[in-house]
Amino acid sequence: MADAPKPASMAHPKANLALDIARLPHPAPVPGDSRTAAIADPGFGRVFTDHMVRISWSEGQGWHGATLGPREPISLDPAAAVLHYAQEIFEGMKAYRLADGAMALFRPHENARRFNASARRLAMPELPEETFVEAVRQLAIADREWFPQVEGGSLYLRPFMFAHEPFLGVRPAKQYTFLAIASPAGNYFKSGAPAVSIWVSADYTRAAPGGTGAAKCGGNYAASLVPQAEAIALGHDQVVFLDAAERRWIEELGGMNLFFVFADGSLVTPPLSGTILPGITRDSLLQLAREEGLDVREERYSLDQWREDAASGKLIETFACGTAAVVTPVGRVAGKAGEFTIGSGGPGQTTQRLRERLVAIQRGNAPDPHGWVLRLD
Ligand SMILES: *Cc1c(COP(=O)(O)O)cnc(C)c1O
Repeated sequence: MADAPKPASMAHPKANLALDIARLPHPAPVPGDSRTAAIADPGFGRVFTDHMVRISWSEGQGWHGATLGPREPISLDPAAAVLHYAQEIFEGMKAYRLADGAMALFRPHENARRFNASARRLAMPELPEETFVEAVRQLAIADREWFPQVEGGSLYLRPFMFAHEPFLGVRPAKQYTFLAIASPAGNYFKSGAPAVSIWVSADYTRAAPGGTGAAKCGGNYAASLVPQAEAIALGHDQVVFLDAAERRWIEELGGMNLFFVFADGSLVTPPLSGTILPGITRDSLLQLAREEGLDVREERYSLDQWREDAASGKLIETFACGTAAVVTPVGRVAGKAGEFTIGSGGPGQTTQRLRERLVAIQRGNAPDPHGWVLRLD
């Protein structure tokens, strides 16, 4: 790996201590009946809560001015660097409701670590992990009334950071804003996810070696919109990307990692080679599958092999995974060279079992031997 630029926050002796987050009064939270109506069927990403966390960073002061206050529009100078050179990163995580009614986060320190890995790649300052976790924890607690009552609902949390320094020269900015907002989310799929159809993009790639594929940055998503729209236009649900160098190896979907289940009981997922986003769901499922005694391998798998193995019956299931939908079975795959069906075309047994095991831990219905669940109250 090339030498990453020195994280700017290292210049500050207190950088690793959690900041105190000051609580600002909210003059006008959404009235209870409007809130109840808004969260009755929230869908995904279109309803927002009353509060947000805001923390500033400047070269002179490091991280400062942490507040939890009313969610409100932010003002940006038209020359703010993020609007021109896309210096922006984000995380996606959920507060879950446990069986006993308490709220909990799932492996939030992993999100904090990945946030800082993204920050290093985008030449941005790292936020102390404890501050990151405190920010999302306090936000979820402040907006607990927004937790949707629908079965399988959650409070989706979106921490993000961008360069707000007004400057058009090309270099890492000297001023950043960290924000965390929350959005009530319904159950993606009420009774287990239906199998999706995916389109193999031949014309576009998501990430090249040496690029930003392993960072969770907005720019990766901007680049995936055209291929994703192409998949939808052709009647599919999602796009799957091949590696940029050989256009041969399966990488991932626009926002989900992929797993392959074989008839001999083995489970394969592409290795974290720098062009794949290191999903926390991916990592959790790898651990659960190993504990179950599956033969788990992180190795490259080609599109040609996938088609051949699906036809011969050697491959019986494929699923995608990520925080938003947990585990989604893949039923059909289509590309320029034709289409093929995975297994019966519906959800497979291993896919469903792994999904249920993970959801049971996340919702407090199964023991949590790894300490993945952080209770909020
Ligand atoms: C966020 C993301 C994932 C899934 O990560 P989780 O931590 O499991 O939610 C997978 N691929 C991409 C490109 C992502 O941005």
